[in-house]
Amino acid sequence: MRSGVQRFEGPSDLHLHSVHSDGTEPPAQVVQAAHRRGLRTVALTDHDTTSGWAEAAEAATSLGMTFLPGMEFSATQEWRSVHVLAYLFDPDNAALRAETDRIRSARMGRAEQIVASIGGDYDLTWDDVVAQTGDGATVGRPHIADALVARGLAADRAEAFAGILHPSAGYYVPHYAPDAATAVRLIAAAGGVPIIAHPAGRGRMLPVPVLEELIGLGLAGFELGHRENTASGIAALRKLVARHDLIVTGSSDYHGLGKPNLPGEHTTTDEMVARIIDRASGSTPVYP
Ligand code: AMP
Ligand code: FE
Ligand code: FE
Ligand code: ZN
Repeated sequence: MRSGVQRFEGPSDLHLHSVHSDGTEPPAQVVQAAHRRGLRTVALTDHDTTSGWAEAAEAATSLGMTFLPGMEFSATQEWRSVHVLAYLFDPDNAALRAETDRIRSARMGRAEQIVASIGGDYDLTWDDVVAQTGDGATVGRPHIADALVARGLAADRAEAFAGILHPSAGYYVPHYAPDAATAVRLIAAAGGVPIIAHPAGRGRMLPVPVLEELIGLGLAGFELGHRENTASGIAALRKLVARHDLIVTGSSDYHGLGKPNLPGEHTTTDEMVARIIDRASGSTPVYP
C-alpha cells in the first residue's frame, strides 16, 4: 500500500446531488441511498457549492463508507454550458470561492428573470420557487420545474424541461459562468482534480483542440460512464484518454426524485479513484 494513502473500498459513485443544489434529498439521505445500492465510496457534487460536504461526510463514515469532497462547477464554452466536476480541492481557496459565489448569485438573478417571464403567461411566482429551494441552495431551473409541478403546470421535471423551460418556449435566460479554461485553472490551483462531467452528452461535446488546450491547463479526465453520453462521443474521447493518459470516471449523477438516474448505475474503478486521490492536494478523502 502507498504510504499516506488509506484504503477505500469500491464500488464508487463520484457524482451525486443533494438539496444543496438541485437534488431532492438532504446529503445524509443521498449517502444512505448510495449505501443501499451497494456503493462503498461516494462523492457529493452539488452545483457550485461545498455546503453539503460536512453532512455527507458524517453520514458516509457512520455507514463505513469513504467520502470524497466534490463539486460540479458551472462553466461555458462559447454558447455551450460545460460542467466541470472538481474533486478534493481546498474549499477555502479564495479565488475559487469568489468565482462560485459569483456564479451562485448570477444563478439567483437569472432564475428570478425566468420566473418573471413565465409569470407573464402562467400562474407562477418567485415565492413558488423559493418554496421548492433549500435554504442557501444553488438555484437552478430544476427548482423552477418543481414549482411548475406544484402549480399543476407540468407533470414532472422532465416534462417541465421539455416544455415551459425549454429554450424554444422563449422564457430561457442564461446565467454568468466562467469559461471552461478558467474553471479548470481555478480548480487545479485550489489543489483539486478537474474532470468534465457528461462530456459526450448530445450537443455538449467540445471540439478536440479545445479539450487539448484544457488538458494543457490541468484537466485530468472525463466522466465517460454517464447515461447522457453518446457512443460515438465516448469513442472519440477514448482516443484523447489514451493519448494523454487521462483519468476516466463513471457515475450516476443522482438527483433523488429529480431524475431517473440511480446511484451506482455507472461506477468508477478503484484504480481511477486512487489516481484522483493521488493527484489532489487541496483536501483529503474522509475515511470511515
Ligand atoms: P440550470 O443549470 O439552472 O440551467 O439547469 C440545468 C440543470 O437541470 C442540470 O443540472 C440538470 O441536472 C437539470 N436537468 C436538465 N434537464 C433535465 C430534465 N429533463 N429533467 C430533470 N432535470 C434536468
Ligand atoms: Fe443538476
Ligand atoms: Fe451536469
Ligand atoms: Zn450533475
